[in-house]
Amino acid sequence: MTSPIYLDYNATAPLRPEAAMAVSAALAAGGNPSSVHQAGRRARASLESARDIIAHAVGADAPSLTFTSGATEAINMALASMVGAGARRLLVSAVEHDGVREAAAAHETAGVAVETIPVDARGVVDVAWLDARLNDWDAQDGPPAIAVMAANNETGVLQPVADIGARVRDAGGLFLVDGVQALGRVDVDLGVWCADYMALSGHKVGGPAGVGVLACSERAPVTRILHGGGQERGRRGGTHNVAGATGFAAAVRAAERDRGQGEALAALRDGLEKKLRAARADVVVFGADAPRLANTSCIGLAGFSGELQVMALDLDGVAVSAGAACSSGKVRPSHVLEAMGVGEALVGCAIRISLGWATTPEDVDACVDAWLRAADRAQPLAA
Ligand code: PLP
Repeated sequence: MTSPIYLDYNATAPLRPEAAMAVSAALAAGGNPSSVHQAGRRARASLESARDIIAHAVGADAPSLTFTSGATEAINMALASMVGAGARRLLVSAVEHDGVREAAAAHETAGVAVETIPVDARGVVDVAWLDARLNDWDAQDGPPAIAVMAANNETGVLQPVADIGARVRDAGGLFLVDGVQALGRVDVDLGVWCADYMALSGHKVGGPAGVGVLACSERAPVTRILHGGGQERGRRGGTHNVAGATGFAAAVRAAERDRGQGEALAALRDGLEKKLRAARADVVVFGADAPRLANTSCIGLAGFSGELQVMALDLDGVAVSAGAACSSGKVRPSHVLEAMGVGEALVGCAIRISLGWATTPEDVDACVDAWLRAADRAQPLAA
């Protein structure tokens, strides 16, 4: 990481030392898990051990896990599988990551309808709306197909996925949970959540980028989207990324070990919000009234654009994100905040500060000081 103070864990977490060691050991060992000779068998054993570790962490059966290039691919597989199972209407929460929103929208050209599940002002999915929709389901739309994330990447707001999953299952539907931001931070369990598909990503938990997992329930049909060799029990073609998988598993293990740090992280995050609010009553904390991840704070200040906040903090050596980071580096108004009903004056004026395994109290203090300096320059408080 180039920035001395890195508070952008929800974009990508710094590689954990355990993951770096596992990646480097796997790269040095080499071997293709599909080969039958010793080197291949060793690579296969590493891959399957990684699968076991990740499956255990998310309450899934190891054979139900498919290694992918990341959560985006896992989400694309899940949605394709839902459509493959006959779903003609996808219900997607308003605060989903673009991985879900765009992958769902791509099916519209094939005549699949996509509907948005609203959230309330806290950012929590409107379960009553979903209930009404499920009760009124038109059989011509195939099985209900629902996607709701476990934890939001911008606000950290947690969704009642177990409750939603039970309702979807009662309605005979298929349920996709994007578990990317939840993994390693809160309990994640495919069975408890009644999830049929769960997408996970290595780099959000301190593993390498470019590796992810799709975990499936026993009843979930899976449609292959990457055709090729018969890897992953025929579900995904392509030579395995053994180093990625073992690095991912090592990070998951380390994150599980560190789960006890959750309270300390929450104290750091709460302290940060308290200091900002004490210094400036005009600071808004989005999602503050909802259950949230302990590491995430999404704050706003009217009149001080998120982009400028990020730039000012960067100049002071503090890395955070504005809105949802996207590949082009451009910042769009956040669809998450828009869905929460945040008005025009604030929607482009938000940043996300996200802490993680290497964050220290000094990092947080430096961020608070830098932000307050920048805010006072941009929006001086009336004397
Ligand atoms: N879902 C959420 C909630 C995310 O935060 C991200 C990453 O930004 C993704 C999905 C996509 O993950 P990946 O980078 O592994 O494709």
